[in-house]
Amino acid sequence: MARKAKPQVLYTVKSMAPRSDHARVYTLSKLSGDLEVLALYTITEYGNSLTCSCPARKAWCKHCDILRLYQGLNKVDTGWFYDFELKTWIEPNKNEA
Ligand SMILES: [Zn+2]
Repeated sequence: MARKAKPQVLYTVKSMAPRSDHARVYTLSKLSGDLEVLALYTITEYGNSLTCSCPARKAWCKHCDILRLYQGLNKVDTGWFYDFELKTWIEPNKNEA
């Protein structure tokens, strides 16, 4: 336990303007515990399928899981943060001093 704690990683999800082909586009931000942006992913939803821009290029990735969580709890565009490791939600502004 003497090791330095693993740095906190948070996610937050915002929706973009709908595309003309009815696809919905979301941006998923990966943030440090200090809310510094570490990465941005774009997830496109068309029908029931999700396509993420992350390098994994898999049929499904954890970003898609996170988007589904946000959608299921109506937290898209609310500013709530999600700690994927701890499976906990963090209220907007709670991290600010
Ligand atoms: Zn992904």
